[in-house]
Amino acid sequence: FDVYGIPIIGINNVWKGVLLVFHDITEIKKLEVMRKDFVANVSHELKTPVTSIKGFSETLLDGAMNNQDTLEAFLSIINKESERMQSLIQDLLDFSKIEQQEFKLNIQDFDLFELIKEVITMLNKKAKSKDIRLELEFQREELYIQGDHDRLKQVFINLISNAILYTPPGGYVFVSLFEFERTVKIHVKDSGVGIKQEEIPRIFERFYRVDRARSRDSGGTGLGLAIVKHLVEAHHGNISVRSTLGEGSEFIIELHKYMN
Ligand code: ADP
Repeated sequence: FDVYGIPIIGINNVWKGVLLVFHDITEIKKLEVMRKDFVANVSHELKTPVTSIKGFSETLLDGAMNNQDTLEAFLSIINKESERMQSLIQDLLDFSKIEQQEFKLNIQDFDLFELIKEVITMLNKKAKSKDIRLELEFQREELYIQGDHDRLKQVFINLISNAILYTPPGGYVFVSLFEFERTVKIHVKDSGVGIKQEEIPRIFERFYRVDRARSRDSGGTGLGLAIVKHLVEAHHGNISVRSTLGEGSEFIIELHKYMN
């Protein structure tokens, strides 16, 4: 608590008492700690790929590029590391735009099934490399909705990447789509580490990361789900989570088919 007093003085300078103001600063303090953590995380996340890009490019320039195999291997590392940086920077930019309420949705009609297929194709390599079964299920051929195609793509990239990230090798990530009269639901279910019941309401907070030591290895900033929630809510949709520690998690997104 932050406490301060204000003397209350009546007419003729008669001392009437003191008004005590108690300020609950636990939330502010927590946010401050999270922000500091966030800066440390972001710096670390940027430093790692830059160090690696610098090291590999220097080695190439020092002569290693004369060997075709080395050249290819190193370039592919450099490429991967720059992609990592790019997505982190994108997260930061999106987040600051969202915080300043600067972003506008670009609403169009598009096939959500097609979009999710694209995301799955994009993340399949990552899932395979961890021996994770990544599957998509939908009973029909197409699912047209209104929304911001690119922003929603980002939502599913974030959710499915998280599912792959927090699932140990040998597990699965199942994505299923359900169509209703006016809404659609997308379930992203994994057989991963799960989330403690008491942590569930907090994972959508900006900068919040469960088990920092563990998540730091996995390379995140705690912004992904905060962005996801903002974007889903900007579409007047909602997101919920069911999870059991040690068994897995299921994120459910509900969206309206038509924006008005
Ligand atoms: P980041 O992944 O960058 O840490 P996010 O905002 O995407 O940040 O997620 C916040 C936290 O929620 C993560 O640190 C992680 O602990 C937890 N989390 C998110 N998705 C999952 C999941 N599918 N399974 C288990 N934990 C998850």
